[in-house]
Amino acid sequence: MSWQDVCQSIRDQLGDDAVYTGEACIPYAADRWARGEAPPAVFLPRNPEQTARIARTLYEAGLPFVARGLGTGMSGGALPLGKAAVVSFERMTRIAAHPESLTLEAEPGALLKDIQTAAAAHGLMYPPDPASAEECSIGGNIAENAGGLSCVKYGVTGDFVLALDIVLPDGRTLVLGSRARKDVAGLDLKRLIIGSEGTLALITGAVLRLVPQPQASVSFAVWFRDAASAVESLRKLMQSGVTPARAELIASACLTILANEGVPVPDGAGALLLLSLDGSPAAIRAEREAAAIVLGAQAIRMETASREDEERLWNIRTRLSPAMKKLAPIKINLDIAVPLDRQAEFIAFAEDLAAARGRMIAIFGHAGDGNLHVNILLREEEYAGAHDFADIIFRQAVALGGTITGEHGVGIAKSDWLGLRLDPLTLDLCRAIKKLFDPKNLLNPGKAYYPGPDANIERLI
Ligand SMILES: Cc1cc2nc3c(=O)[nH]c(=O)nc-3n(C[C@H](O)[C@H](O)[C@H](O)COP(=O)(O)OP(=O)(O)OC[C@H]3O[C@@H](n4cnc5c(N)ncnc54)[C@H](O)[C@@H]3O)c2cc1C
Repeated sequence: MSWQDVCQSIRDQLGDDAVYTGEACIPYAADRWARGEAPPAVFLPRNPEQTARIARTLYEAGLPFVARGLGTGMSGGALPLGKAAVVSFERMTRIAAHPESLTLEAEPGALLKDIQTAAAAHGLMYPPDPASAEECSIGGNIAENAGGLSCVKYGVTGDFVLALDIVLPDGRTLVLGSRARKDVAGLDLKRLIIGSEGTLALITGAVLRLVPQPQASVSFAVWFRDAASAVESLRKLMQSGVTPARAELIASACLTILANEGVPVPDGAGALLLLSLDGSPAAIRAEREAAAIVLGAQAIRMETASREDEERLWNIRTRLSPAMKKLAPIKINLDIAVPLDRQAEFIAFAEDLAAARGRMIAIFGHAGDGNLHVNILLREEEYAGAHDFADIIFRQAVALGGTITGEHGVGIAKSDWLGLRLDPLTLDLCRAIKKLFDPKNLLNPGKAYYPGPDANIERLI
């Protein structure tokens, strides 16, 4: 069956507006990391049944396809390689909160921000909070097992998924997990889908766990001489039994960038920890005292903000990425993660390497999770050397017991380095699992751990 025949068949089954071809497909060629070739067609299901029909038709025709949420991925995961079609979930956006069971049902195209708002309307909270909340979908979050600022206390996306509705590449449908909070029946295939980067199945629905909204919160901006004292102080705080709701490190070069933006950086400061605590007012009072003692021991300045004006402190972090983009046309954002006690060593290594090679880097990140963003700032003519530089950074992260990606996924961007993190036997197992789900290798070919067509892409960062 040709593309034309497949498009006609899907139009006949679902109506003309379920299929885009030609120029309408161009916006579906890119995510936030790179642009590929425009797909031959985009299919837009309105429900799981339509999704299954699309998959079945494509699989029978032997034509490749890739799921797409809202295209904010940072690793090329949603790019249609090898003339793959796109199955876009932008029309499947229904959300239903069930406060009586502290759960929420969502279709895959639902905007994360809308899910957070729907939970908040019942005094509840869906904690995973990637910074892209206003523009990414829950389907994309589940496929990437996305993290965010609040994951240090609450966990990542996968920790909040109770059940998934999925469509296998050949169109068969199933439910993985259940509405029960505990369920150990059989192998945990739901966990296999979470973080599988759209390589195993199409996610058509999710049941998410909610928690009560904390009654109170307080935030701190704590300035240190260097990153080592900042991460050591944070580790001591966490060891003392205080788990911050958010704990972000902003290290050395970032402070120079912030100072240029008009942020008042204290003399001698080489690192900033932004922290927030949440819970009941009584718990906050006790934790706030503990934080003042533990962090105060090495801090050179500490500023506190109550719930009403804490966003003023967090705005410091929000300003960073736009400020970096003013400094260099290219900003490569690596998202490595290392064990909590190796962060200072990693940062020192990366900064020494940058100094030795005359590169500009700026490091910030989720220090409560050891998930650090190494931003390599480059001029156009410097881009060629970036691969080697990133290679050394990835090797060091893995050598310290960490990983090449803590939240953005492998996609195409890091497939060259996956072998550093996974041994050959693990990679073989991943590929064998892919063959069970997708024997014809038609779903999201060429991504993450499974070889596929060469990527003809133009990077966007
Ligand atoms: C400004 C900005 C800030 C960001 N901050 C963070 C952050 O703090 N933490 C973080 O983890 N990430 C962050 N990201 C990355 C990105 O937003 C996340 O990876 C997000 O989960 C992608 O969602 P999406 O809907 O845009 O997915 P897409 O980019 O459309 O797709 C991503 C992957 O998911 C697959 N997929 C999408 N929907 C489905 C589905 N229904 N079924 C199966 N597979 C599917 C795709 O095939 C692709 O492989 C950020 C991105 C930006 C631009």
